[in-house]
Amino acid sequence: MSSSEQLFQRASAHIPGGVNSPVRAFRAVGGTPVFIDHADGAYMFDTDGKRYIDYVLSWGPMIMGHNHPAVREAVVRQAEKGLSFGAPTELEIQLADRLCEIMPNMDLVRMVNSGTEATMSAIRLARGYTGRDVIVKFEGCYHGHSDSLLIKAGSGALTMGVPSSPGVPACLAEHTMTLTYNDVEGLRKAFAEHGDRIACLIVEPVTGNMNCVLPKPEFLTAMREVCNESGAVFILDEVMTGFRFGTHGAQGHYGIEADLTTLGKIVGGGMPVGAFGGKRDIMEHIAPLGPVYQAGTLSGNPIAMAAGLATMDIISQPGFYEPLFTHTRELCEGMQAAADAAGVPFTTNHTGTMFGGFFTDKPRVENYADVMACDTQAFGRFFHKMLDLGVYLAPASYEAGFMSASHTDADIEETIAAARTAFASL
Ligand code: PMP
Repeated sequence: MSSSEQLFQRASAHIPGGVNSPVRAFRAVGGTPVFIDHADGAYMFDTDGKRYIDYVLSWGPMIMGHNHPAVREAVVRQAEKGLSFGAPTELEIQLADRLCEIMPNMDLVRMVNSGTEATMSAIRLARGYTGRDVIVKFEGCYHGHSDSLLIKAGSGALTMGVPSSPGVPACLAEHTMTLTYNDVEGLRKAFAEHGDRIACLIVEPVTGNMNCVLPKPEFLTAMREVCNESGAVFILDEVMTGFRFGTHGAQGHYGIEADLTTLGKIVGGGMPVGAFGGKRDIMEHIAPLGPVYQAGTLSGNPIAMAAGLATMDIISQPGFYEPLFTHTRELCEGMQAAADAAGVPFTTNHTGTMFGGFFTDKPRVENYADVMACDTQAFGRFFHKMLDLGVYLAPASYEAGFMSASHTDADIEETIAAARTAFASL
């Protein structure tokens, strides 16, 4: 028995399913999760000492690679001064100033502890600001696990949602409308019929939670337009995309204007952090300036702020992103060539430092239905072969992959060589 198998048995005694977040349990691909001992740069090492080239990167945050010395030193320096004060610090000002400087359309920003908190709070703010209840989201987009957002589409088009988890009241689901990603016509129709009841539209500008699905330019434009026409607040959920295309988010990359933006992952440099911010007239409705309540014992935690600031320093250096973009493209091209050579139906999507591979014969994957039509069995076999060969991919076919600044040409080559073997074995 491997030490991961032993640990998983022990973990299952007192931790539900042996994990503290469900997708870590390997249910989608079968087998036992790999238990990690430590990580450095592009690599994670399991408790048996096996090395993996990591393309999950803690689900996105570790854009510089694991255990970056500058971030580690910032955390240690701050830890020596105390772990949490529950009173304001200068570090919070520094990070807020920084975010408002680099993120478009961000005049004020509030720090929280996770992406879930950021989106939940942004939605409450949008509802409080507009005095409306209905929220619009898209099938396949994930915005954390708060009640209003764990909603799937209702049966016919334009019906209100139904809970996607027991425990979410149906009366809440009724206020969430779930539409099809990249479907401009469906979007316009929904706003034409319900626009005056819609508090906000929330979207992943590039989706990383139904694998990696890219937005059509006309879809991005249409979302801004329907929000302008209806008075709904346009929320860009950049928890994943923020700082994956450059320092200005997907907003800067695609030139879209959001009213509110949510951040997480990279903004905390690996510490538990989220943030929501945006236009001043909306943000001024948040307590203590305004009546919309939102709070947090550990929000703006000094250690998390120190890690975030150190991260912002490094990713803001000129030329930081270009090698990551190149490596992302080369990895996708190499995987595609490996699949083609083995005769495996496969396609990839990528942009910036995010990518995805799909076991499908469709040339393009553009929405949830396309993703759901992919061969999950083939993915599971591919995943395990890659894991054997020392490549750590997300243990589910509905997750995007990420590139870090620590991945070298040799890592990309090793990964493509492993993919050749893995595709051939299918
Ligand atoms: N929004 C998006 C786009 C995400 O990808 C995630 C997490 N993967 C969240 C929100 C929720 O963030 P957290 O897991 O930190 O609560």
